[in-house]
Amino acid sequence: MNDILIQNTVAFFEKSFGSSPEKTVLSPGRINIIGEHIDYNDGYVLPAAIDKVICFAFSKNNTKTSKIIAIDLNEEFEIDLTQEVKLSDVVWTNYIRGVIKQLQDNGFSFEGFNCVFSSNIPVGSGLSSSAALECGTIFGIKSLFDLKIEKKDISLLGQKAEHWVGINCGIMDQFSSVHGLENKVIKLDCNTLDFEYHNADFKDYSLILFDSNVKHSLFTSEYNTRRIECEEGLSIIKSHFPEVKSFRDSSVEQVLSLKNKMSEKVFDRVHFVVKEINRVIKACEALDAGNIELLGELLFETHYGLSKEYEVSCEELDMLVDTAKEDDAIVGSRLMGGGFGGCTINLVKKGHENDVKRKFSKLYLDTFGIELKFYDVKISNGTTLL
Ligand code: ADP
Ligand code: MG
Repeated sequence: MNDILIQNTVAFFEKSFGSSPEKTVLSPGRINIIGEHIDYNDGYVLPAAIDKVICFAFSKNNTKTSKIIAIDLNEEFEIDLTQEVKLSDVVWTNYIRGVIKQLQDNGFSFEGFNCVFSSNIPVGSGLSSSAALECGTIFGIKSLFDLKIEKKDISLLGQKAEHWVGINCGIMDQFSSVHGLENKVIKLDCNTLDFEYHNADFKDYSLILFDSNVKHSLFTSEYNTRRIECEEGLSIIKSHFPEVKSFRDSSVEQVLSLKNKMSEKVFDRVHFVVKEINRVIKACEALDAGNIELLGELLFETHYGLSKEYEVSCEELDMLVDTAKEDDAIVGSRLMGGGFGGCTINLVKKGHENDVKRKFSKLYLDTFGIELKFYDVKISNGTTLL
């Protein structure tokens, strides 16, 4: 599937710059099986890189200026590497400017390069095209100029670039884009960045994303509010249980015992977070045991937590998950990503994929007048130099 993308990207580079690229990089999007809104709450998450990628072609150009072409947008920009890097009004360029700034600020030295890139990761659907863009750019510059940057630091630099662009994201997206392995999910401790791989064998079930095709504008403001609410909740827990350093050290019983010490909203948020961290541990055990029905049950629990306690769902996502819950061919479903739109992740019984897609398409179109999109995803390797 990615062969054509690679061919087109390389051909575009050759047409634009008159020579073959020195380096070609694939940088994947990601899914998250479970552990939602947990990365910035320092708990465990269970992401994986997928077979949807941004393909980059790079060469040095022996100047102090870099020229970058976004094939999909038919846009390009140049950046003088001797000048201070500043934010631009053209948003997509900021992810690349941010990466260049982070590399420079952290003492990495490199010169001008030419770059073209093209992608088959849906943009803004929660598959983290932005992290793929950041990490692929860092990987390309590192490879071209032989910079010594470890995988973990590629993720951290990518995250810092995204903060500079203005999104106060956690580490999960960049980490999974870089560290992905074929057929493995990554249990990542977002506090220490320790991680372990678990086999991603979903047995009789296929992983299918349903893209709601909506993105409600609440996203950014509510995201920032959740962060503040969780910080407030954690500080209340800490003040009563000094041994608690982060949500991972806290139990559901402790949270319940503090119910009347917090506002209802803050209680709901932290109750979700502590339960969700426990669900990630249970999900790993279920995967290891090949118990996909139990994994699916956990996904539904996560969704209802995200919808009722964390309040980051919307009627489109709730309808998709409620319908999935009643469908015998779907063993688990939940909203994936930040919420207020984007995708649901579904475990669909093999052999029933087409029936499920037909049924959900019609229902969704009839209810909301919006087309539902589907992505069959395979769990794949992280950022790769071809
Ligand atoms: P996502 O969930 O896909 O990460 P974001 O809003 O965080 O959504 O990031 C999407 C942004 O990343 C786009 O608006 C654009 O600025 C940039 N981007 C992603 N893919 C591409 C691409 N193929 N070409 C140019 N810019 C891209
Ligand atoms: Mg993003």
